[in-house]
Amino acid sequence: MIPVQRPYLGQEELEAIGKVFDSRWLGMGSVTRAFEEELCKILGARNVIAVNTGTSALHITLDSLGLEPGDEVIVPSLTFAASVQAILAAGGRPVFCDVYADTLNIDVQDAFRRMTARTRVIMPVHYGGTPCDINELLPSARERHIWVVEDAAHAFGSSYNGRKVGTLGDVTCFSFDPIKNITCGEGGAIATDNDEIAQRIIPKRILGIDNDTWSRFSNQRNWFYEVVTSGYRYHMPNINAAIGLEQLKRLEKFKRRKQAIVQRYDEAFRNIEWLKLLKRDLKDTFPFFYIVRVLNNQRDNLMTFLRERGIGSGVHYIPNHLQPHFAEFRVSLPVTEQAYNEIITLPLYYEMTDADLSAIIEVVHSFL
Ligand SMILES: *Cc1c(COP(=O)(O)O)cnc(C)c1O
Repeated sequence: MIPVQRPYLGQEELEAIGKVFDSRWLGMGSVTRAFEEELCKILGARNVIAVNTGTSALHITLDSLGLEPGDEVIVPSLTFAASVQAILAAGGRPVFCDVYADTLNIDVQDAFRRMTARTRVIMPVHYGGTPCDINELLPSARERHIWVVEDAAHAFGSSYNGRKVGTLGDVTCFSFDPIKNITCGEGGAIATDNDEIAQRIIPKRILGIDNDTWSRFSNQRNWFYEVVTSGYRYHMPNINAAIGLEQLKRLEKFKRRKQAIVQRYDEAFRNIEWLKLLKRDLKDTFPFFYIVRVLNNQRDNLMTFLRERGIGSGVHYIPNHLQPHFAEFRVSLPVTEQAYNEIITLPLYYEMTDADLSAIIEVVHSFL
């Protein structure tokens, strides 16, 4: 079976974990610090805070903005449930908005229409690694004193008009879970050029304790500490950072291979009249997954057809406004609902061979 996604891990990652074993300092420490410094360099961001998951990155970012009960966060419904659970965990109220049909990224005009006096945050999701139109979003949000917190779980390594995702909005949250662009096993990071927000977030990742700085980062314990704010157990351990540091060295290779696969898919599918490609600028994008729309109500049949021929596929995502737990926030989102019936995610991962790719393309061509 060809899987939909799969992490690439080599001997180097294993050896890096071995060194952390030998040091006997498994938790947050000097390797975490080195990972943060490398991320700062790669992104060109002023502050990077490493955490244990992308979901916690979103949660403590929103928490640091001090949402009051009833404060609203506008988010596309077409995202992983993590975005919405993070909003609820931080005490916010999710307001679901629609997406553009061609990119499946946040429909900025629809988001603006949903603004109220209670709107505190807009959370765009850079869907599939393609950055949303931040130039359309940011100036109006700033004018209204609304924070832009990006869910960039899919978009580590992507750029927008030559600027790295991570330096666009107010705060950017990344995920390094097993299937993301790079992995730490599990992991996440927050990037922001706003020093004040960074200082508020830092203690929140480790139980609100204020001295996670020099002593931990030299793998030592300092007996004195103060609890200065609400906080969680969300730090990134050395052992995960060690994996991440090795993955960063592979970033450009991962990106180029996945771009080449997407380009081949697009070329092969462009002339199939029952398929509709998404719009993307591949040059600036680290593609996270390969999604195409299947017209004429054939999506489910195509998924079965592929499965019977040893090819995995998926649907990303079931819109959150249709989920039972989020029923009280339900609205009508026509573009999202239609997309939900049409989208299919085809295999895309670094180790996919050209033979795998040809086989998938051939099977898709033989359908209908
Ligand atoms: C993966 C993902 C997250 C959460 O990241 P984790 O590291 O898995 O917690 C959030 N938002 C989106 C869109 C994701 O795909």
